[in-house]
Amino acid sequence: MMQQPTLDDVRAARRRIAGLAIETPLRPSPSLSKRLGRRVFLKLETMQPTGAFKLRGAANFIRRLSPEQARAGVVAQSSGNHGRAVAYVAAELGIPAVICLSAQVPPSKVEGVRQFCDGTAVEVMIEGADEMETLPFAIDLAERRGMSFIHPFDHPDVIAGQGTLALEVLEACPEIDTLVIPLSGGGLAAGAAMATKAIKPSVRTIGVSQAEGAAMHLSLQAGKIVAVEEAPSLADALTGGISADNRLTVAMCKAWLDETRTVDEDQIAAGMHHALRSERLVLEGGGAVGIALALRSEPGGGEVDRWGKNVAILCTGDNVGLDRLIEIAQAERTVTIG
Ligand SMILES: *Cc1c(COP(=O)(O)O)cnc(C)c1O
Repeated sequence: MMQQPTLDDVRAARRRIAGLAIETPLRPSPSLSKRLGRRVFLKLETMQPTGAFKLRGAANFIRRLSPEQARAGVVAQSSGNHGRAVAYVAAELGIPAVICLSAQVPPSKVEGVRQFCDGTAVEVMIEGADEMETLPFAIDLAERRGMSFIHPFDHPDVIAGQGTLALEVLEACPEIDTLVIPLSGGGLAAGAAMATKAIKPSVRTIGVSQAEGAAMHLSLQAGKIVAVEEAPSLADALTGGISADNRLTVAMCKAWLDETRTVDEDQIAAGMHHALRSERLVLEGGGAVGIALALRSEPGGGEVDRWGKNVAILCTGDNVGLDRLIEIAQAERTVTIG
């Protein structure tokens, strides 16, 4: 049942999600291109109606439900962007949904989900101190209510949905040499890297995570699933663990990612700051880790010299509180190199 999705599944997902998720632009970044001495493009998933790419996976999963399953509805557990995406799709299609959030989810993200509840069959439940507690609660709730549980990353339909963004990158820029992918549970990296390599095996695929508690990065390094302490981070969309019964994303990230990297909190802030100042782009921390990696990688300094002539950086989401954004915008920050 739990087979790894293939390029065909990603192509089918693309047709299925049309009308719910949009095709986003791949925009050249003159400032990063100049700085890195190669062509750098930004994939603007912030333009999705929910502000993040997670809409792709949620739309693909829900559109694959049978009419009876759709009537019964769906349950999701998420640090915000996945929950928001599921809420949006359920509201659009008029099906019931319960979004379970942990007490750690920042208020701005809780509001981001609640906005879809008015006049729809979508409800929010705050349960559990962190995601590792909320997850079993949500799975149990789905079971009790006869609803379908939508995992935030470890499901073939979710992975295939996220992978659709890679098809768009390769169409917009077939010359692409390197794809930089924000990495948490690995649904995005699994789908995007698999589809990219299936079309063009020479592309270098790089997963980027926050420095503290990078579950996938540490698990790939250790060769087994590593439990992490959930540390607070500017990249709150990337925190959270990978459960020991992971079925797909660890194996797929191992197979399709060439490397994983981490960026520290100063570097993430520098990425968000650069996005605002030089790209006029609002990015949450998790959406800015790719730019953060690019900024610390000086040409001639090793890392970036392996990236080739054309680099696409996935800018995955913009769901950041206004107060934090203003703080970052006002910081007199020159870019941290580390
Ligand atoms: C979920 C998320 C990611 C990471 O996706 P995974 O599939 O969990 O690896 C990256 N950026 C943002 C903004 C996200 O919401």
